[in-house]
Amino acid sequence: MISGSCLCGQVRYEVDGELGGFVHCHCQTCRKAHGSAFSSVAAVPKTAFRWVAGESLLKAYESSPGKFRSFCTNCGSHIVANRPAQPVILLRLGCLDTPAQGEPKCHIWRSDGAPWYDPGKNLPVFAEGFPAPPRE
Ligand SMILES: [Zn+2]
Ligand SMILES: [Zn+2]
Repeated sequence: MISGSCLCGQVRYEVDGELGGFVHCHCQTCRKAHGSAFSSVAAVPKTAFRWVAGESLLKAYESSPGKFRSFCTNCGSHIVANRPAQPVILLRLGCLDTPAQGEPKCHIWRSDGAPWYDPGKNLPVFAEGFPAPPRE
């Protein structure tokens, strides 16, 4: 089972089963909605998805016709996106509380991508914040 929650913890969901693959979306609406270079997204069947807390705190913004991005009105976390006519709901992986199964498949919408982020460029990786300066 997969579970996730918003930043303040009042909105929580569960999904039966495990994630398949996922993608990193660089479209302008994802960048603006999340305030970041891209949004990591996995589609799961609506029949497997349920809200378990805080559904009344959700608000949905229709970012393009028929596409609703749901966020917590208390803390602002974007949790899912939904096109009512489709059988899947899109999880925003930053809100997962369980480990993500499956593999990242690709980056999409790089034509819209932030010019200051290049997914092909390897950068130094630190386990936490900037490492402490070496001591003599
Ligand atoms: Zn919240
Ligand atoms: Zn997007």
